[in-house]
Amino acid sequence: MRGIALGLLGLLLTLAWADGLREARLVVRGETLELNPPALWDGRELWLPTQHLEKLGLPLEANAHTVRLTTLPSDQPVAHVPCEPKRGVLCVPVRDLARRLGGFTRWDEGSHTLSLLARLQEAQLGDETLRIKTSLPVAWRTFKLENPHRLVIDLAGCALPDVPVPLPQPAGSVKAVRIAQFDPHTVRIALEMDTPHASPENGLHSEWQIALVPAAQSPIATDPADAPPIVVEEARPAEPAPEPFQIPALQRNAQGVVQLNIPMPEGARPNVQFLENPMRIALDVPGYLQEAVEQAIDDPSLFVRTLRAAPMEGGMVRLVLELSRSVGAQILSGKAGITLNLRAPRNTGGKLSEKIIVIDPGHGGAQPGARWREGQTVIEEKTITLAISLHIAELLSREGAKVILTRSEDKAVGLYERTALSNSANAHFFISIHCDSNPRPNSASGTTIYYHKDDADSRALGQAILNEMVKVSGLPSRGVRSDSKLYQNGLAVLRTSQMPAVLIEVGFLNHSFDRAKLIQPNFQKRIAEAIVKGLKAHVEGR
Ligand SMILES: [Zn+2]
Repeated sequence: MRGIALGLLGLLLTLAWADGLREARLVVRGETLELNPPALWDGRELWLPTQHLEKLGLPLEANAHTVRLTTLPSDQPVAHVPCEPKRGVLCVPVRDLARRLGGFTRWDEGSHTLSLLARLQEAQLGDETLRIKTSLPVAWRTFKLENPHRLVIDLAGCALPDVPVPLPQPAGSVKAVRIAQFDPHTVRIALEMDTPHASPENGLHSEWQIALVPAAQSPIATDPADAPPIVVEEARPAEPAPEPFQIPALQRNAQGVVQLNIPMPEGARPNVQFLENPMRIALDVPGYLQEAVEQAIDDPSLFVRTLRAAPMEGGMVRLVLELSRSVGAQILSGKAGITLNLRAPRNTGGKLSEKIIVIDPGHGGAQPGARWREGQTVIEEKTITLAISLHIAELLSREGAKVILTRSEDKAVGLYERTALSNSANAHFFISIHCDSNPRPNSASGTTIYYHKDDADSRALGQAILNEMVKVSGLPSRGVRSDSKLYQNGLAVLRTSQMPAVLIEVGFLNHSFDRAKLIQPNFQKRIAEAIVKGLKAHVEGR
């Protein structure tokens, strides 16, 4: 009897595990929801019992077995998301819903928590108003900070988009505008003003306006019932005086990895930027600092020349690492903060002359790539990419490196053929040359270098090359970017490369400023020189 009971219990336990579901937490607008029955995580999707739908505060309507997205026309198939039973409870897929509505989610494996977030889409100053638009409703509130006078608007449940929102131009009573990710769930907009708006406000919206009437002119509420709700002035009232931010120490471990530990609230992720000329990594982290501090580093094995920290708006500190060479950088989050790991990127070290490098001129033959017609002449991307690539190949050969061109004449080569050639040659680096183009002529200008997904070695290669390109090109830097921002699966030539690989968009063929440069033989030569110089610095360090 007992054996059977134990056997049954065992079977039940097995069943409970076999469905692959785990209880999970859900954070909406910065607050963890109380959920009973709980939300369930299947490894990719969070399933929320339909009875909790209202807590999401999203424009949704529950039917018997589907959820209708009320902001989309009901005759669109995507307006309906089917519910599914999970452990006997009808549930909706939260990630799917968020995506369809224009929001996004962040899963934290450590705490089993899914955060639902909107993106800030717009912040525009009018004469006496600030208009804000987010992709999902956010909980917002305003309050004042002094010294200098600031009106602060916190958006809970919001994140900055990957492509920065254009900062509104100061106008009227607003002298300066700053927008920053205050914590992982909150975007903070700070308006520096002579006399900030007196009455605190709050709301739950995805598109709204805040009046910026100076205090003296704001209407006085005569009836207490009309008085606006009182909101405490400081964001965290009980907070003790903060400890000043300390520049963390760089440590090199036995594997040659340089580590930097930065204390941060659990689950928080800093805003990280990779910048050129000079090469540096900038991290925006929560913290308090009175004035900028700087520390020079003498040891070249630490990859960092200077460490700087400077106070920013909204309780943030910008920590800048000026690099002595390109590095593979990774961020690991832990309980007490984050660790930034820096290491020598793959296939670096030794001499450039010892390396095998594949140069890939974009397009060719019947595939001209981007085109621009000017009177009788047609300018084609394939011609420019070949010219630059041939210069690079010549310069690299002169350096003594082994160079493989995926094409050296005007002919079509398949994308997979290009990387197959590179992979079978066991090349150390793959560099693809392209020119950019977009739907609106003269709207975008500058150089972009793409790497695949989150490959730190390729990003380092891109940063080293861009660092030299911006010195000679006279074109704006659009940065080193992940190709996952272009396409979910990235770019084919980068995805299928087994070695560190980058795709360089030298400039925009449909921007007159860029185009005038791109077609110049002299510019093509200078760009080729810069690319080789960047590659050499990447391999040999400085
Ligand atoms: Zn192209």
